[in-house]
Amino acid sequence: MSLARTVLLASPRSFCAGVERAIQIVELALEQRGAPVYVRRQIVHNTHVVASLEERGAVFVDELDAVPDGACVVFAAHGVSPAVRAEARRRRVEVIDATCPLVAKVHQEARRFAERGDTVVLIGHAGHEEVEGTMGEVDGMRLVESVDDALALTVPDPERVSHLTQTTLAVDETAAILAALRERFPKLRGPSSDDICYATSNRQAALARVAGRADLVLVVGSANSSNSLRLVEVAARGGAAAHLIEDVGDIRAEWLESAGVVGVTAGASAPPHLVDAVVEHLRAAGPCVVEEVETVRETTTFTLPLAVRPADLGPQAMR
Ligand code: SF4
Repeated sequence: MSLARTVLLASPRSFCAGVERAIQIVELALEQRGAPVYVRRQIVHNTHVVASLEERGAVFVDELDAVPDGACVVFAAHGVSPAVRAEARRRRVEVIDATCPLVAKVHQEARRFAERGDTVVLIGHAGHEEVEGTMGEVDGMRLVESVDDALALTVPDPERVSHLTQTTLAVDETAAILAALRERFPKLRGPSSDDICYATSNRQAALARVAGRADLVLVVGSANSSNSLRLVEVAARGGAAAHLIEDVGDIRAEWLESAGVVGVTAGASAPPHLVDAVVEHLRAAGPCVVEEVETVRETTTFTLPLAVRPADLGPQAMR
């Protein structure tokens, strides 16, 4: 193509504070305790992150029965159910908890809502690890995945229902499901602030701005990353052709042929260097102008757990 291609970089994109914290926890555990350090499930849903930590001595397991007695195990950012915590105590393994504080907040809400006698309804995707962990907090928690699920839901007392959401859902779809739940249960109660986390909503808002101007959107992320999949959907709803790519190697030449404006973003679990490689690839493909489209600047950080906090770091603020 003769005219310069425009590349719109959605900002914020890529790592969030919860993912950075989880990766740092595994790195510090490896430094402080030496390899191997066991990690239950993928620490974050990204193939490159997992491979890089494996090279440094992390051993990823599906369940605690694969962890030797007395070893150190890190719980992934998506959180675990109380049954997994109880199993770890029984096995006397050392646990370092990398659950994102914003997922832990949803677990606390689940317990609080159940204690006041409400049926707890979780809006989320069946089979996702975060959903498994949250559902384990309360017996009888109900999962709702769609507006149809919400409209068909029956509960013992329609006046005593509280809702929660998975942290990485699409903001617009969740609003529609919530509206349907409110229609079914006018006295529906919920958390004081949204459970969809700041990182998920910020990345979707930035990409929505980009997608309206782009012919093609490339979302860097792994296929099991919920927030990355939601970004692909947001781009498609914005009118762009959208593809999820693990890395630059997944880009097909034919996608670029008629794409004068290419939007680029990355899910919260995808490392920034993968985005850099995509931009380099686009620059190498012909004349190209790169424009950053920033909707908000993120400043959130989370404190590290005491089990790995370096002594010289002192108390950290959690915002
Ligand atoms: Fe935490 Fe949100 Fe990041 Fe998940 S996407 S780790 S909930 S900040």
